[in-house]
Amino acid sequence: MENPELAALFRLFESLPQQGPGSDACTLEALARLPALPERPRVVDMGCGAGRQTLALAAALHCPILAIDVHQPFLDRLRAEAGRRGLAELIETRCADMADPGLPAGSVDLLWSEGAVYNLGFARGLALWRPLMAPGGLLAATECSWLADDRPPEAAAFWARDYPAMAGIAANRAAAEAAGYTVLDTFSLPPSAWWEGFYTPLARRIAELRPTADAAMRAVLAANEAEIDLYRRHSAAYGYVFYLMQSL
Ligand code: SAM
Repeated sequence: MENPELAALFRLFESLPQQGPGSDACTLEALARLPALPERPRVVDMGCGAGRQTLALAAALHCPILAIDVHQPFLDRLRAEAGRRGLAELIETRCADMADPGLPAGSVDLLWSEGAVYNLGFARGLALWRPLMAPGGLLAATECSWLADDRPPEAAAFWARDYPAMAGIAANRAAAEAAGYTVLDTFSLPPSAWWEGFYTPLARRIAELRPTADAAMRAVLAANEAEIDLYRRHSAAYGYVFYLMQSL
């Protein structure tokens, strides 16, 4: 039986255009900063959600992409949208745990993951995915990161509770190197990538669900509202960062 807060969380996120900060412009910027891919690249999107970035990648790369998520309703939405955009042939979905996605060793030329690796922990996720990478394979992942050494106490206390492993860019670069990658580049997502596709629709969905929310949903709505308020006050201190890596 599913935990009621997890069920409420999926209900809150299920109809959103995307499930985390990000934008097609940032996805394409990350792609443009990577070295050239082999001719028929094997591409995997881990923790794809409803697949905003999967669709952007498929349209840009015109190659098959395997999109993996643990929540089947997100994958159903991705399939439907891929059909509407004429990209259905390019996108295969798999409902699986990205910690153990059932992929052969050395089989991935480009591993993509936006706003999802934190579920495994950045360092652990990169280490788990390393054996899947083809020689010289590329990995592009976003991770919520401290942007400055000066960490406002309110933000530090919030993330110490919600994501204690959240690290700064230098520490994440070091973790990536230790996991067997070279870090080619990094860049921070602008605040617009949080507000436009994510927090603005999320705030609207919170307002819609509030009148009929049960206790589990009320707790989930309050936690998400607190996160939005925190970002409004402290967007200079933390943010999502794209880490562009190559397996050694
Ligand atoms: N990449 C999407 C985006 O940016 O819109 C979704 C990001 S959302 C914050 C994180 C996603 O990771 C969710 O869709 C969730 O279902 C998925 N997820 C969490 N843990 C997972 C796991 N162990 N294996 C596969 N997917 C997982």
